[in-house]
Amino acid sequence: MTEFPANLALMEPIYLYSTDFPKWVQVLVDCPGIQGLYTYAVPTEIVVQVGDILSVPFGSQVIGGIAIGFITELPTDLTPTQVKPIQEVITQGFFAASYWRLLDRVADYYRTELMTVIRMALPPGLLQRSQRRIRLKIEELPSGAELFLSLPGREILQLLQKQTSHHYSYVHLQRQVRGCQRGIRELTKRGWIESYLEDPKNIHAKQQDAVILLTQNSAIKLTPRQQEVLEVLRRQGGELRVSDLSKLTNCTNSVIKKLADNGYVTIEKRERLRLLSTVEMARDQAKPLTIAQSKAVETLKKLKGFNQVLLHGVTGSGKTEVYLQAIAPMLAEGKSVLVLVPEIGLTPQLTDRFKARFGNKICVYHSALSDGERYDTWRQMLTGTAQVVIGTRSAIFAPLPNLGLIILDEEHDSSFKQSQLIPAYHARTVAQWRAELENCPLILGSATPSLESWLTVKVQTELQTAQGFPKSPVHYLDLPERVADRPLPPVEIVDMREELKTGNRSIFSYSLQNALKNLKEQGKQGILFVNRRGHSTFVSCRSCGFVLECPHCDVSLSYHYTHAGATELLRCHYCNFTQIQPRHCPSCESPYLKFFGSGTQKVTEALTEQFPELSWLRFDSDTTRTKGAHRRILDDFSEGKADLLVGTQMLTKGLDVAQVTLVGAIAADSLLNFSDYRSAERAFQTLTQVAGRAGRGDEAGKVIIQTYAPHHPVIQAVKNHDYQAFVDQELPQRQILNYPPYGHLILIRLSGLESDLVENTAVAIAERCQVILGNQVEILGPAPASVMRVAQRFRWHILLKFSDNLIQNLDLKELRVICPASVSLSIDVDPLYIE
Ligand code: ADP
Ligand code: ZN
Ligand code: ZN
Repeated sequence: MTEFPANLALMEPIYLYSTDFPKWVQVLVDCPGIQGLYTYAVPTEIVVQVGDILSVPFGSQVIGGIAIGFITELPTDLTPTQVKPIQEVITQGFFAASYWRLLDRVADYYRTELMTVIRMALPPGLLQRSQRRIRLKIEELPSGAELFLSLPGREILQLLQKQTSHHYSYVHLQRQVRGCQRGIRELTKRGWIESYLEDPKNIHAKQQDAVILLTQNSAIKLTPRQQEVLEVLRRQGGELRVSDLSKLTNCTNSVIKKLADNGYVTIEKRERLRLLSTVEMARDQAKPLTIAQSKAVETLKKLKGFNQVLLHGVTGSGKTEVYLQAIAPMLAEGKSVLVLVPEIGLTPQLTDRFKARFGNKICVYHSALSDGERYDTWRQMLTGTAQVVIGTRSAIFAPLPNLGLIILDEEHDSSFKQSQLIPAYHARTVAQWRAELENCPLILGSATPSLESWLTVKVQTELQTAQGFPKSPVHYLDLPERVADRPLPPVEIVDMREELKTGNRSIFSYSLQNALKNLKEQGKQGILFVNRRGHSTFVSCRSCGFVLECPHCDVSLSYHYTHAGATELLRCHYCNFTQIQPRHCPSCESPYLKFFGSGTQKVTEALTEQFPELSWLRFDSDTTRTKGAHRRILDDFSEGKADLLVGTQMLTKGLDVAQVTLVGAIAADSLLNFSDYRSAERAFQTLTQVAGRAGRGDEAGKVIIQTYAPHHPVIQAVKNHDYQAFVDQELPQRQILNYPPYGHLILIRLSGLESDLVENTAVAIAERCQVILGNQVEILGPAPASVMRVAQRFRWHILLKFSDNLIQNLDLKELRVICPASVSLSIDVDPLYIE
């Protein structure tokens, strides 16, 4: 809690006497050919608020802009005389001010330009072609009004009065009247006119011709063909798209046009949203809840304002039903809800369940939408009608007003972090800020919570209980059992070293082979999981399971072999420790020291060879490239069109197929030994999620995990479905080395075409870091990235490690100055992968 100084009562509120209210406003200008942030002066007679739409002079034109923040000092390259004043406030509060504060915070924390954040968050051309217009408020006008006015005011008034609909574009008035701006100010002040920006909402929507039946009868006689068309239109409810009517009646557009000319119908432009067409779904009802579910829902319903909730529910415990029942009262109150999921394509089932419950209140928003679709969705959101937006990470920036709740499903999933592009934000972090700013609850749901969420919510809740602190807004809710008394599936761990000893050289252990044989006989389905990431970079012994690790960093070494004839090296890509690849295992002298790896393709080949009677579907990034492929494969599998689904990490995300009784993980070790401090957490999460696909229906399931490290604590925790054991093992290790969630990391990535230049720059930047950050920060590296050369570019990085409270204060701007133009530098705050 913040301590207030004891003499607070004596202090004067300074701002009351200060004439120093904001003089400069930052305006986002987003018109064709111009996009950027510009500084304007605020004339004393105009009151501007963040989120207002303004008209501002730009070159010789006057254009629209959005006020996004105030500054007290001008940028160094501007003098007060260069700064033009804004002209007018056109629409007040178009955006909630909190929205811009959010974007500002993202820019600040992730060390990016605000404009980069804006470009990512909002569709381009927000105010495109929107025109400022002036409308006469005829009802406000006293008789003899013109007597009070200056000449330009009078001229404008007369122009507006003469025009039948009483409005004109600003540009038009400007052309007609000298001193137009003064006149407009005067009339506005008296309340006789108002300015508005032609609603940007109405500009981009795709317009379509609709034909509407008119009720009054026309005198002109109809041909039988025309009568037929009219009859169809009447039966369809009197309103159809022109294209649909002509399709239905097989008539040409000219027939319809003729009907319009004769006064039987009218043709109007109607806007159609380019939103994903929603398939009509059978609607469902709220399910009666289990005891744990209803406890969770009751707690959620009581929350007021910002609260952070961890919903920790084992796989199949019914988290989705909890979300649905927490959302329903929000919609009833007229509030909107934001639901973030890892990948839309992978979770069609989840989206379907939302649509089944809430119908057309569901709106899907993700990065695969075209600009136009994004624009439409965005407009639809700004209308303020209560709705549920389901989307991937970028949906956290959906400009929904009146937000009542934010949900992150599978909150531990790494796709919530944007790693490849800037800003390198994490949607969970942004969600927390947004919930704070909007003062609404945030639910983080997972069967395998991230250690970040565990530390913030669970550990904090325990501390509070122990120390009797006032409740801070965190809640831990758990669903420890599956619904309908279904048990969690038993997990069998197979020691692959033993298999090798007994002469089994197949990639399937005897146990898995048996299970596969039984599958067909029992008419059940199975899933085989193959790890995609990091295989064949770490080196391990096939005889004893020993893994080569960096003596300094507690991560496994990566294999580096750059070209034929080069020395085979092992490298730590945190600190650049390097050694020659040994010929024999340092632990048992075995010569079977190998890189890991077997892809989905290798597994399906082995299946065809050993189990030709089993049919399979492959589910990985190769087979799901085309649009809708995810869904197709999952649907085919759900409908029983194959015995097995063989896939990568994609399998772990929310797949709910009742007939799946067998789950096999082929080579769990490639997950454990990825050269990253997070690999244990990721391995636990992935294996638990994969295991959770088994036995979700009435039939009990079984899980087989193949490994060279059967006693590894992660494997044991997965076997026992024991999240707590995993945490107890992992958290202290993170704390000792000051890794997240305790300390923070910033990864500085450098890349370029010239090997030496990149390396030298990395060295120079690391030295600079030492100077400016000193001993507050641990500087690891520079080291080459795990895959040092990608697309002809050489990649190096520097890792900064420091304690939690420092992150806001580290100023890294200086580093960009010493980076040559041909080397690109990117800053990844809280990186998830250090590779
Ligand atoms: P999770 O997301 O926690 O893994 P799901 O939400 O997918 O679990 O729920 C698992 C299954 O249980 C789903 O098929 C769901 O329809 C069903 N289910 C959830 N809650 C209930 C309930 N209260 N009564 C009956 N079935 C339920
Ligand atoms: Zn060995
Ligand atoms: Zn190291």
